[in-house]
Amino acid sequence: MWVDSHCHITHKNITELGDVNSLVSAAREQNVMAMLVINCRIVEELPTLLDAVHSHENLWCTVGTHPHDAGDENEKLITEENIIDIINTHKKIIGVGESGLDYHYNFSSPEDQHISFRKHIRVCRDLDIPLVVHAREADDDIIRLIREETNGKGVRGIMHSFSSSEKMCMEALELGFHISFSGMITFKNAQNLRDIAAKVPLERLLVETDAPYLAPEPYRGKINQPAYVPHTGKILAQLKNISSEEMAMQTTENFFNLFERAVRV
Ligand SMILES: [Zn+2]
Repeated sequence: MWVDSHCHITHKNITELGDVNSLVSAAREQNVMAMLVINCRIVEELPTLLDAVHSHENLWCTVGTHPHDAGDENEKLITEENIIDIINTHKKIIGVGESGLDYHYNFSSPEDQHISFRKHIRVCRDLDIPLVVHAREADDDIIRLIREETNGKGVRGIMHSFSSSEKMCMEALELGFHISFSGMITFKNAQNLRDIAAKVPLERLLVETDAPYLAPEPYRGKINQPAYVPHTGKILAQLKNISSEEMAMQTTENFFNLFERAVRV
């Protein structure tokens, strides 16, 4: 079985393909049996995510604010204590995210992004729960803020849809992170990323769709969905010289080792 360790299954773009029930069924037909649904806005989106994950076995979600939304006044009102309360109330919440920094778009100011990211890191440090990190053109600050908030120890978590440098990858591994690859590694022009993926130890690899974004080949440009995970997993398997079945088993085991709160049914 495969796990999609990062998807946005209730995103408005994905509803063109079907509702949550039909996306989950389509995924199961491709042996994608579990999914982690990532929260981008706590105030507006979390109730919908909780509904979705409560009605399906082997679906879980995170709680967090995407760096794009860090400046949103409603999201800014959410404190560290609020996030801890939310996690303690809902068993199906197994991690914190989407978190991180995005200086490419700067939809929120870097200052607001830092406040939000530091808050998330502290929650993960205090609860020993994984952090899901989005990094774009902010590699040095991502590593620096994690080190600063954890006394250099790091936290458990994921560098999601990895597309940063090899240096960043090695630093993240050193801080205890897992590295998750999306459909990007199937793109022709992504040799650099494939070279990095080949260097990640097997027990630290994860695979994701980031649906509805970044559909893998042969669906590039289309709306992505969890059912497409095996297309990315197959490339990852080739890079590590193992079979797709072995990669499915390994990344599934890695997922459940990392997310201790995810109880498999
Ligand atoms: Zn995401």
